[in-house]
Amino acid sequence: MDRSEMLRSLEGGSFDLIAIGGGASGLGVAVDAQTRGYRTLLLEQDDFAKGTSSRSTKLVHGGVRYLQQGNVGLVLEALRERGLLCRNAPHLVHPLAFIVPRYRWWEGPFYGVGLKLYDVLAQSLNLSPSRLLDYSETVERIPNLQKEALLGGVMYHDAQFDDARLAICLAQTAADHGATLLNYVRVTGLLKQAGLVRGVRAQDIETGADFEVRAKVIVNATGIFSDSVRRMDEESIEPVVAPSQGVHIVLDQSFLARDTAIMVPKTDDDRVLFVIPWHGRALVGTTDTEMERPELEPVPRREEIEFILRNAARYMERDPRPADILSVFAGQRPLVRMGGMQETKKISREHVVEISRTGLVSLMGGKWTTYRKMAEDAVDDAAQVGGLPTRTCVTKELRLHGWLAADDPALPAAGSMRMYGSDAGRVTAFLDSNPAHREKLHPKLPYLCGQLRWAVRFELARSLEDLLSRRTRSLVLDARATIEAAPRAAAILAEELGRDTKFAQAQLDAFLEVAGGYLPPAD
Ligand SMILES: Cc1cc2nc3c(=O)[nH]c(=O)nc-3n(C[C@H](O)[C@H](O)[C@H](O)COP(=O)(O)OP(=O)(O)OC[C@H]3O[C@@H](n4cnc5c(N)ncnc54)[C@H](O)[C@@H]3O)c2cc1C
Repeated sequence: MDRSEMLRSLEGGSFDLIAIGGGASGLGVAVDAQTRGYRTLLLEQDDFAKGTSSRSTKLVHGGVRYLQQGNVGLVLEALRERGLLCRNAPHLVHPLAFIVPRYRWWEGPFYGVGLKLYDVLAQSLNLSPSRLLDYSETVERIPNLQKEALLGGVMYHDAQFDDARLAICLAQTAADHGATLLNYVRVTGLLKQAGLVRGVRAQDIETGADFEVRAKVIVNATGIFSDSVRRMDEESIEPVVAPSQGVHIVLDQSFLARDTAIMVPKTDDDRVLFVIPWHGRALVGTTDTEMERPELEPVPRREEIEFILRNAARYMERDPRPADILSVFAGQRPLVRMGGMQETKKISREHVVEISRTGLVSLMGGKWTTYRKMAEDAVDDAAQVGGLPTRTCVTKELRLHGWLAADDPALPAAGSMRMYGSDAGRVTAFLDSNPAHREKLHPKLPYLCGQLRWAVRFELARSLEDLLSRRTRSLVLDARATIEAAPRAAAILAEELGRDTKFAQAQLDAFLEVAGGYLPPAD
């Protein structure tokens, strides 16, 4: 993928469909529409997955919690999508074992029955049957579990992924099929013709250039910012998105020790909490804080971090403290209020496709797990609105960029090469072409300097933050180490883009400002 080539394909081009927003929703729409044969353009104001889509709990899950709430339809759909995603992107999605610890006698039958229902709902796409564990097997799988009064656990399986990398993979998949995708292009207005939305006004954030592009239908997939695009369409429209903030902390893997996650079914505020092994760390979260306005770079609040530490400590023998936090990050859920005001933790995670009077299609709500089905629904509606020829969705069976069978020996077993899937051979050859490419970015980070160069050349990385936060996940894995590695990474970026030291310094300054928000609070 090359940004200048993508920009060139805009000239004089007219599109069938424009997706605004480069998160899970917009990228899903771009893949779906382009693979149906509709000429598709996606515009993202910042980087792909800069918004909510790089800040999730990294689970592809049916949602045990929604089962507790009795929302069987949502669970059924999500379990089906979980199975499809495991099949279509084995290099980025894999099954993960979870244990619900049992401290009271009734928790065995209670969670055991619930999780059996979860197995049944997954039908042929179930990953592995749930089962009761005794005390010793539970402790063997999670040595750091709080042992006082522990009876055992209930084990079940869901899937795990790398969210920002799946976003890049979707962008690559759409591009492989001929779509045009641009990061750092903001939509600033909608163009109308005979009262119908038929294009967008946009600005290239890198050059400041304004331009217009036309299409038969426009899909608003801007997550927590959906209301701002809906307002471009109709100024007085009622807002419907309720941003709800969720924070995660990242700890050393020793807080889990093995590859099994902990699922706490009931926190202080009636939510679930996960402690999950991820890229050699333990990811703990999350919270649910109603926010007044959407933020592209949300900042974790001290009380959210304290909430996570307090609830995690109830289930861990060695309690995590602020000084143990390697990184902390916040994301905002794009929840859609349907029929009145509700607490955000009670708002459904289902998605909504809204068609305005002028034909703007807004895809809102939902979750990463169901991005494919969300896109299918939105493109079905968009095709009708835009008068496009009817074509069936093909994404159920579509292998995503880099696909290799889970048991293919060419698929790297684990580590930072696995994310490339079938590209891993090419990446390895590139890394081997120069000893400097094989140098570690930082002793505490699992990435090599050459991987940054690869990301600039082939993965549309444009800024230092793209490299350190989303092409590699350095910032999320260890904020301090990443800040230390940043000057070196900035020099690599500038060299790859053919820019000078002034550019490198500006990138570094901008990155350090963002990275400060990922540092843990002082004790
Ligand atoms: C804390 C937390 C944990 C979660 N955990 C999970 C999980 O484990 N599993 C799961 O399935 N789901 C999870 N989710 C939900 C999931 O992450 C979101 O539903 C999903 O990422 C939303 O994607 P989106 O594309 O709708 O929004 P976003 O990813 O926010 O994308 C919208 C994009 O639109 C862009 N944009 C906005 N305005 C414009 C404009 N004018 N022009 C161009 N671009 C624009 C933004 O920059 C942004 O990149 C979680 C969410 C949160 C907050």
